[in-house]
Amino acid sequence: MIDFELTPEEEASIQAAHKEAEETLRPIARYYDEHEHESPQELINRMWEAQGESMLGLGVAAALRIEETCWGDAGLMLCSPSSSLGGAAILMTGTQEQQQRFLKKFGEGDPKWGAMAMTESGCGSDTAAISATAVQDGDEWVLNGEKIFVTGGKRAVDDSDGLVVVWATVDKSAGRAGMKSFVVEAGTPGMRVEKVEKKLGIRASDTATIIFDNCRIPYENILGSPEVRKIDKSQTAGFKRAMATFDATRPIIAAMALGVGRAALDFIKETFEEEGIEIRYGLPRHQLSAIERDVMDMEANYKAAKMLMLRAVWMMSQFQPNSLEASMAKAKAGLAVTRIAQKAIELMGPLGYSRKCLLEKWMRDAKINDIFEGTGQINMLIVARRVLDYSREQLK
Ligand SMILES: Cc1cc2nc3c(=O)[nH]c(=O)nc-3n(C[C@H](O)[C@H](O)[C@H](O)COP(=O)(O)OP(=O)(O)OC[C@H]3O[C@@H](n4cnc5c(N)ncnc54)[C@H](O)[C@@H]3O)c2cc1C
Repeated sequence: MIDFELTPEEEASIQAAHKEAEETLRPIARYYDEHEHESPQELINRMWEAQGESMLGLGVAAALRIEETCWGDAGLMLCSPSSSLGGAAILMTGTQEQQQRFLKKFGEGDPKWGAMAMTESGCGSDTAAISATAVQDGDEWVLNGEKIFVTGGKRAVDDSDGLVVVWATVDKSAGRAGMKSFVVEAGTPGMRVEKVEKKLGIRASDTATIIFDNCRIPYENILGSPEVRKIDKSQTAGFKRAMATFDATRPIIAAMALGVGRAALDFIKETFEEEGIEIRYGLPRHQLSAIERDVMDMEANYKAAKMLMLRAVWMMSQFQPNSLEASMAKAKAGLAVTRIAQKAIELMGPLGYSRKCLLEKWMRDAKINDIFEGTGQINMLIVARRVLDYSREQLK
């Protein structure tokens, strides 16, 4: 039975996350939006001391804490030092020995970041189009290629003793079966950050292009069991396993999206209240004003996305397969937050469009949730395939 019940301790931790978001993140949100690529060092140290959580094994309470933090600021939340997406990939695809070897350092020493590099200029939604290569040379792999839009890439490679999980093909002719993931630790010769993107939103988060130029890593840094590492053209188990990383990360992106969406919703409701505009719940729809209908639609979308997110996270915490639910939650939340933020600006008029308040920033921050970790279209495609029982080839 699905159970979203929280213990009093969990409730308290969510309230504490909200307080931190309100008192620490909100006041500096505009500054780091306007000073892109500047690092919020004090906040980073504070977050590191509080120790970020890994993306896997997260329960309902942890997802709700992430929502609260993103209510404070999503860009700053993404600066939080942790193994992040890289860690999720290692936990999903690595052996126990690899998990221990690569993730131990995220619990000690100075702040560190993990990142995951899959996207290339010719490979985004079509994950099988990867052109970065990994060639075995004795007891090493030699990586070559360029990865773009790597979240936390600079912090993982240049600013800390972090790591990057890199996707590369060991045999192009093998298609998906040739795709494997590799761990490249910071400081490895041949890996360098080429540039950091200037972005529309989540500007506090660094998004890097990383070059792998004859980058040599130990053979043992290929993720997975010997079975997964095998290059067998009829075997896509490794690829499927790696794709399962998204089952863990998509519900978390949904939680992030909800934080931004609720920030916008709370803002307009508070402003209406101050202006004496009442939202009259319970009236028949035809008796409502246009503003009331809009606010209720926004709330309904927020709540629907939240229920989907909670279900996907809860299933993940119970180690139940959740690919369908994770994609549903991500698709709905990505769409809901972009619509909520846009509508909020519309309802506020010029105030919403100005930089006096954070609405315009939230609209810019919202959109990324509909892009990374699979775009809205791709997640809807996954949902359609699963619901209709179509294969990848049958429904493209
Ligand atoms: C700020 C930011 C951070 C990112 N962080 C990371 C990261 O950490 N690691 C990483 O590897 N990548 C990251 N990405 C990349 C992101 O995952 C990709 O941008 C995303 O997967 C889409 O790929 P694409 O940009 O190549 O778009 P494309 O795949 O070229 O898609 C373009 C458009 O076509 C649509 N489309 C494509 N195929 C279909 C289809 N079959 N049916 C219907 N519509 C379709 C898409 O939905 C999209 O709207 C990041 C991107 C951004 C902007």
